[in-house]
Amino acid sequence: MSDHIPSSHPRAESLRVRQRIIEGMERKVVTRAGLFAHGRGEAFDYLMGEKTLPSAIEAMEAAVAMMLLAKHPVISINGNAAALVARGIVELGEATGARLEVNLFYREPGREAAIARVLEDAGATGLLGLGDVPPATLTGLESNRRIIDPRGIEKADVVLVPLEDGDRTEALRRAGKTIIAIDLNPMSRTSQWAHVTVCDNLLRAVPRMVEIAEAFKKGRKKEELEAIVARYDNARVLSSTVKEIIAFLSRVAEKGVFLELPGPGR
Ligand code: ATP
Ligand code: MG
Repeated sequence: MSDHIPSSHPRAESLRVRQRIIEGMERKVVTRAGLFAHGRGEAFDYLMGEKTLPSAIEAMEAAVAMMLLAKHPVISINGNAAALVARGIVELGEATGARLEVNLFYREPGREAAIARVLEDAGATGLLGLGDVPPATLTGLESNRRIIDPRGIEKADVVLVPLEDGDRTEALRRAGKTIIAIDLNPMSRTSQWAHVTVCDNLLRAVPRMVEIAEAFKKGRKKEELEAIVARYDNARVLSSTVKEIIAFLSRVAEKGVFLELPGPGR
């Protein structure tokens, strides 16, 4: 379906990504709420010029260092993440030794299997969270939103949550987990509750984190990774992110135009 989008369209890439989310919904991978989440993400991406900010790189380095140092790192996967970056997530798991757990906000019949299929097609093995063992539960949350895998998130020390809901991020943190979030909105409750917030699009952040993990494994000693984690301060980094967004918007405000368009007054 994505071949209906002409490559000359100025927002072709964004439309292709949307198309992947829509196709994900048709395959039960993405929920309707996932469409709203994606739209909100797009809006925040616009506010940063759809580019990775320097503060996000700092957060990615701390996140990767934490994952490499962790005893039981786990990557929690939801529908949007599976639809957008399945292969990248599999590679990040391999590069950091993290296990992958399917952890859904909305559990509908067939959804877990649909997501598992997307991930397995991308090379995932040993997926957790698929209901083949009695689940553990996370306190402070209601109903099936609190289901976690006893082999995965329950025993994890570090959990990466690409696109998580604020309530669940809070519950995971209260359960004593170190949380790494990837979320385009620096003000979301997820971003605020996480220990490390990578404020960037999943599509850019995940491949970049794989590169960082490969480079760290080759070139950094354990003590160096520990030093990266020790000097990291999420409040300072989130504050830099907001300042970088303001600086970008100020440049737009200065010029009065965002796009180099032909037309009246331009
Ligand atoms: P919270 O519950 O954390 O306060 P929220 O209720 O505003 O946040 P949710 O729908 O719970 O939002 O979570 C979706 C989050 O995912 C949003 O903050 C959105 O900006 C972010 N998001 C959506 N798509 C992407 C993407 N591709 N990459 C990174 N972040 C994204
Ligand atoms: Mg929310």
